[in-house]
Amino acid sequence: MKRLRTVRGRFALWTAGLLLVGLSIFGFYVYQSMARRLAAGVDESLTLVGAQVVAGLDIVNDRLVSSESFPEEPENVDLLRRGYTVWVIRPEGRVIHAFGPYQHLALLSGGTAAFSTRADPETGDAVRVHVVPVPGEARQVAAVQVAHSLEDSGETLERLLTTLLIGVPGLVAAAALGGYLLAARALSPIDRIIQTARRISAEDLSARLNLPAVDDELGRLAVTLDEMLARLEGSFQRERQFTADASHELRTPLSAMQAILGTIRARRRAPAEYEQALADLAEEADRLQALTNDLLRLARSDTRDPGSQEAVDLSTLLADLCDSMRPRLQAKSLSLTRQVPEGLTMLGDRDDLIRLFGNLLQNAVRYTESGAIEVSAEAAADGTVSIHVADSGGGIDSEHLPRIFDRFYRVDPSRASPGAGLGLAIAQEIARSHGGRIEVSSQPGQGSRFTVSLPKSAT
Ligand code: ADP
Repeated sequence: MKRLRTVRGRFALWTAGLLLVGLSIFGFYVYQSMARRLAAGVDESLTLVGAQVVAGLDIVNDRLVSSESFPEEPENVDLLRRGYTVWVIRPEGRVIHAFGPYQHLALLSGGTAAFSTRADPETGDAVRVHVVPVPGEARQVAAVQVAHSLEDSGETLERLLTTLLIGVPGLVAAAALGGYLLAARALSPIDRIIQTARRISAEDLSARLNLPAVDDELGRLAVTLDEMLARLEGSFQRERQFTADASHELRTPLSAMQAILGTIRARRRAPAEYEQALADLAEEADRLQALTNDLLRLARSDTRDPGSQEAVDLSTLLADLCDSMRPRLQAKSLSLTRQVPEGLTMLGDRDDLIRLFGNLLQNAVRYTESGAIEVSAEAAADGTVSIHVADSGGGIDSEHLPRIFDRFYRVDPSRASPGAGLGLAIAQEIARSHGGRIEVSSQPGQGSRFTVSLPKSAT
């Protein structure tokens, strides 16, 4: 059979199937117990009638006195009116009284109490017969047989069967239809989700489901999908922006190189001019290399797994970095203080950590014209190490502060600015990849303070 392709169809089919099985079992049970009850009712009334007939018999000295008027006695007339057939039989088998519609039926043999069902050969009716022995003082005096048609209970059972045979399929069909309509109604947002999903492509992620806010599974699914689409759209846009910015940044040193080459090749030059041009070219090439290194580092951080972890002595690492800054500090007459406890270690990537703190220190020196730079660190009881790099430079305006960690963001985007605005973005990536974070506080005119918090054992 071809598999149903809609959930609503399958739902309706399952509802109908389960209901059909359930109702069939229930109907079978009801029919059976009704049949048993009716049969028990007939047997009970035959027992009562049998006892009544036996009580009405005239027995003297263990002998049955036959009376001609037996069938006319009021209680027997009543039995006849209610459709009972009664036989009174002597022990040797002679019938001394018999009345009722089934007199022509053959008698049951034996004088012991029994019930039996037989068919009337003339009408085909099922007839229930009850044998009641009549004991005397010393021997059996007679036997009474009482019979009644099973037609009434048969009719009742037939009516019940008809009701079940019509009612069960009717209910099943109604449930299937109801199930189909309910499922169709409940699942209608899915069609909308499918249509929207078809419209979505990598070029256009602006489509949204915008289903009415209903707090059920589908409502929540729609909201989750919309949020996912918004995140995807955002990340695609960032990716596009990143590519555009990277191309733009790469073009700048390349254009400068082309310009230098164009100028120098325009005519024959003195050796000193060639030397100067080569020095300029080397500077631009360094710039290009630094930029591509930064771009590669950022591209890798998106796909990198936190491998290469080793025990890093932060105290030594920070001391070495500070020492390497001395020439630049001296050139600008800046002082540097370092308050880092001995033996401060953590698990991490040494090269990454050098890059992170190197960037912060370089920025501090680069953007500070006078005063001091302070490097300090402490380990907290919760296993976090905090490293602070503070300077007394010009600080960062509050309008720029929230964006300085963005890729390619520079407070002063003119060519005079030495970096491409990637230093802090890379620093943040490194802090994140070590399970930590980086924060900044800055007062324009009073300096900036960067704080890196890292877990001692990186996650
Ligand atoms: P770049 O590599 O161009 O310096 P960064 O990402 O390191 O880029 O820094 C982004 C911007 O943040 C810089 O353009 C600079 O204006 C500002 N900035 C960073 N550090 C400091 C600091 N210590 N003092 C003042 N401004 C800073």
